[in-house]
Amino acid sequence: MQGYKNHAEKIDLIRSGKLSLKENVKGFLYRIEKEKKLNAFNYVFNDAIDTAILVEQKLKENRAGRLAGMVLAIKDVLSMKDRPLTCSSNILKNFEAIYTATAVQKLIDEDAIIIGKTNCDEFAMGSSNENSAFGAVLNPFDNTRVPGGSSGGSAVAAAADLCDASIGTDTGGSIRQPAAFCGLFGLKPTYGRVSRFGLTAYGSSFDTIGPFAKNIYDIALILEVISGNDKNDSTSSNQSVPKFVDKIKCDKKFTIGLPKEYFSAGLDPEIRKRITDELEKIKLSGSQLVDISLPHTEYSIPTYYILTTAEASSNLARYDGAHYGYRAKNVASLNEMYIKSRTEGFGSEVKRRIMLGTYVLSAGYYDAYYRKAQKVRRLLKQDFDNAFKEVDLIITPTTPTVAFKIGEKSTDPLQMYLMDIYTTSVNLAGIPGINIPLGNNSVGLPIGMQVMAKEFDELSLLQFSFNNF
Ligand code: GLN
Repeated sequence: MQGYKNHAEKIDLIRSGKLSLKENVKGFLYRIEKEKKLNAFNYVFNDAIDTAILVEQKLKENRAGRLAGMVLAIKDVLSMKDRPLTCSSNILKNFEAIYTATAVQKLIDEDAIIIGKTNCDEFAMGSSNENSAFGAVLNPFDNTRVPGGSSGGSAVAAAADLCDASIGTDTGGSIRQPAAFCGLFGLKPTYGRVSRFGLTAYGSSFDTIGPFAKNIYDIALILEVISGNDKNDSTSSNQSVPKFVDKIKCDKKFTIGLPKEYFSAGLDPEIRKRITDELEKIKLSGSQLVDISLPHTEYSIPTYYILTTAEASSNLARYDGAHYGYRAKNVASLNEMYIKSRTEGFGSEVKRRIMLGTYVLSAGYYDAYYRKAQKVRRLLKQDFDNAFKEVDLIITPTTPTVAFKIGEKSTDPLQMYLMDIYTTSVNLAGIPGINIPLGNNSVGLPIGMQVMAKEFDELSLLQFSFNNF
């Protein structure tokens, strides 16, 4: 669309004088304005043009970073100093971040250009981007449909060419599912691979940060930049970060597991057929396919929604009207201030989760729900550990259906939660997963395929994707 296929080509064009970075950024700003109805951005940074001029200069002088001139959109749950940080919630209306998230800082340090903050479900809770104080985001393939969530704005920004690539977060599928609905590559790294410092917490033992792009080279490059240990996040891993970009091209053959539980009834027949056809091609290219079982799969949705709501109820206690953002007016007491600020500031899905989470953690129910769910989480992890003794990768659908209509599921939370049926297990186990776009269905809506790997083996995901798609 922009005249280059990936970031390496973009840099070449700028260096050779065939592409002006300033004009390129202006072009994106123009497109953002033109496609305003998609509602992908909460905030657009017009000063990105100034950064473009500086980066172009650096490039000419050969002192630019590895992401020089890559135009990125950032989900509005990630902090950027002195920029708004709302998490698409009224409770953080007018709140500005006082520091920059480590992942975002690393992008800036490599001379990426941040063009704005993207719309998302409130506090990243949702699968459709309809739970946003900024309103729904429209799917660029069909404006009557959702883009997926919770990183819907980031997915649309990348899919509709409003930026080169974007950053989202994935707690239960929020990168992979919108990537599937919008025809993009979207990678959820291993838990701990990327520092969460400066990411607004939803489910702290699940939250991850990762990229969306139309090509795997850019995904690998962004991942390489944002990964690594950070003293500001004690859960960030000190595993070394492979040189993903240098290593993606290879002719490695993989043993691939196909878990029968992920191909059962309820899967859209067109998605099933497309993945089956793709598997045939993969087999012909020399990889080996093996039928496997992940026997505890049916528990992943309830386990996920018990544990993440518990973590959310604790994480969201800090929004009390006193510390951040919105404070209710005309209150007679401190208690009333807390109650009114939270009642008026949070949307209904966030309130539902705070109540659910408080319930599962309460005395008397803790053992029955929270503790039990922790045990099931371990069993789910063991399923994967066992599977990865036999196989290198696991392939499943990313979503049971293609993008659904706006409003279709918003009155039925359980139907909405079922959209995460193939994605939450990856977060429960802490392993990495990627969505691979497989083209569109018969009515032009994107279909996605999910590939999972063992902990810290993002390299295999990238190699497999790069060499087959
Ligand atoms: N749809 C899931 C949820 O609502 C996942 C959200 C996410 O990954 N942030 O919890």
